[in-house]
Amino acid sequence: MNPCRCGWYGDKEHPCECTPSEIKKYHQRISGPLLDRIDINVRISRVKYEELSSKSKAEPSAVIRKRVVAARAIQLKRLSPYHLFCNAQMNHALLQRFCILEPKAQSLLEQAFRNMHLSARSYDRIIKVARTIADLAGTENIEALHIAEAIQLRNDKDYEI
Ligand SMILES: [Zn+2]
Repeated sequence: MNPCRCGWYGDKEHPCECTPSEIKKYHQRISGPLLDRIDINVRISRVKYEELSSKSKAEPSAVIRKRVVAARAIQLKRLSPYHLFCNAQMNHALLQRFCILEPKAQSLLEQAFRNMHLSARSYDRIIKVARTIADLAGTENIEALHIAEAIQLRNDKDYEI
């Protein structure tokens, strides 16, 4: 979705014409129950022409696909006894069983929880996403860098304005 009604909120070069309440109203157009099903939320800024036309090599999709297939296999193996197939489906009890945080990851999450005033729901969400990032890395326990990445991808209902 666009960041606001006029589409320029957050843009570095073009001013946004919306008032804070208009921006808030725009974001409330997405229903809570729908947003609850979305675990990852990333803000993407406008792409410049020079970036589109640059010849720098990105990682090929086939390589990324391999990593994703491997991570999905790990999740299926872990969760099939519970008739589940991916991390997003874990309830709180499974989360506690399968998402072991390294001490540094635990303290980073605690710190983020306090500083960013996260809800219990976003806490579970961050851990689930971190579990997936750790699976993509082929790591058994969740490390601080996995938590750090998951925090950046968090999905909060309240848009900070
Ligand atoms: Zn705007």
